[in-house]
Amino acid sequence: MLKEIKIQTQSHSQLIDITRHVSAAVAESGAASGTCYIFVPHTTAGVTINENADPSVVTDILKETAKIVPWEDNYKHMEGNSAAHIKASMMGFSQIVLIESSRLVLGTWQGIYFCEFDGPRNRKVLIKIMEDK
Ligand code: ZN
Repeated sequence: MLKEIKIQTQSHSQLIDITRHVSAAVAESGAASGTCYIFVPHTTAGVTINENADPSVVTDILKETAKIVPWEDNYKHMEGNSAAHIKASMMGFSQIVLIESSRLVLGTWQGIYFCEFDGPRNRKVLIKIMEDK
C-alpha cells in the first residue's frame, strides 16, 4: 500500500512533525509488524528524525543549517534556490522506521520531521508499509 500525505508548508524554512500522520498510515495498513518507508518526492525538501520534546532543537537545526549553507553564495543554479537543494540533500529524502505491535518503533524523544527549505509550498510525503510475512 502506498499512502500519500499532503502538507502545506507555512514558512520558507520549516521542520514539521509528521509523526502522527505516519502513525495513522501504519494503523490504516493493519500491519502488526514490518517496515515503514517514508519518501519525500521533492528536491528542496527532505525528511529527518530528531527530538520532538524540546521545540528549540528544531529551531537550532534550522538556524545552524542556514549558517552552514547561506542562501546567497554565488551559486550557479539559475533558479536561485541552491541552498534549499543542498540542505534537502543534507537531510535526505527518505527514512525507514520499523513497525512492531502495530506501532512505529521510535525512541522516546524521536519524531519524524518533514523539512521544508524553499516554502511555502504544497508538498507531499509518500509512505510505503511492508508487512512481515
Ligand atoms: Zn532549484
